[in-house]
Amino acid sequence: MLEQAEKEGHQSRVMFRYAISAEAAHAEANKTALAKARDNSDLTDETIQLCHVCGHLQLGRQLDECPLCAHKGISVVPLNRG
Ligand SMILES: [Zn+2]
Repeated sequence: MLEQAEKEGHQSRVMFRYAISAEAAHAEANKTALAKARDNSDLTDETIQLCHVCGHLQLGRQLDECPLCAHKGISVVPLNRG
């Protein structure tokens, strides 16, 4: 779909790019969480940030701006300890 949107110059190409990049970041976050689970630990010391514009998920260092879409005000998402 991205290729078609790029070819047609359709505005949806921007959102497709965000979605592909955000999913790559999600995969990395999942790998980190899986490695911790296999090590019988948790993400207790990780800060998780979520961009409400593009869906980018950031583990670790805190950012003021989304590295994918440059949205300022990326939100810190607390871990559910329940
Ligand atoms: Zn973003």
